Amino acid sequence: MQIIDNLVIRNQMLAELRAKYMGGEGRPKGIHMTDCIYCLERSYYDLVDPNRIQHTDKELMLFAVGFGMEKMLLRPEQVHEPVELDGIWVSPDFVTLEAGKAELKTTRQKTTMTLPETWLEQMMGYSWVLQVKEYDLVVFYIIPPEMKGYHIVWEGQELKDNWENILLRKQVLVEKITGKRVLEPGQWCRAWECKNCRYKVRCGR
Ligand code: SF4
Repeated sequence: MQIIDNLVIRNQMLAELRAKYMGGEGRPKGIHMTDCIYCLERSYYDLVDPNRIQHTDKELMLFAVGFGMEKMLLRPEQVHEPVELDGIWVSPDFVTLEAGKAELKTTRQKTTMTLPETWLEQMMGYSWVLQVKEYDLVVFYIIPPEMKGYHIVWEGQELKDNWENILLRKQVLVEKITGKRVLEPGQWCRAWECKNCRYKVRCGR
């Protein structure tokens, strides 16, 4: 037996993945809620900068795990259509068998992790747009494989405050896009976002 590296097939598969992901399958054009929740500097680069930097192979593969899991676990009729409110697109993951709204996440973290505030902000935003007070979350922990489900009941005020914060961040992003605002690096992101960011060299963080 002789086993040799096959870079050609590896690169073909990655190119396929990149083409599918960058094609933005099913994603409406415009500003999405996640553009407003995560680093605005990076959202600006990704949305409009002609010199945007492509996702790394590692990022692509991690996205693929999430998309693959959605395809595996969700029936086509469960997948939620994108919805737009206040100029912001949201793409809730799915509708449960009991007709509730739900999100599916995959993570490399341990099952003991605290749910990230960005996930909570995302689900609060979906709840505001869809006008629901409760939300389900399924988390697929990859290693070791484990699945957990959560049911979250929001308080009305936290949904309102969260949406106002998203609107504020959207306004800042639009001002950046239209050249009316300069963003100080780090001002509109969480410190952990810079760790593996492909724009780190460019923005000076
Ligand atoms: S390095 Fe940090 S501040 Fe700069 S674009 Fe990336 S996440 Fe944003």
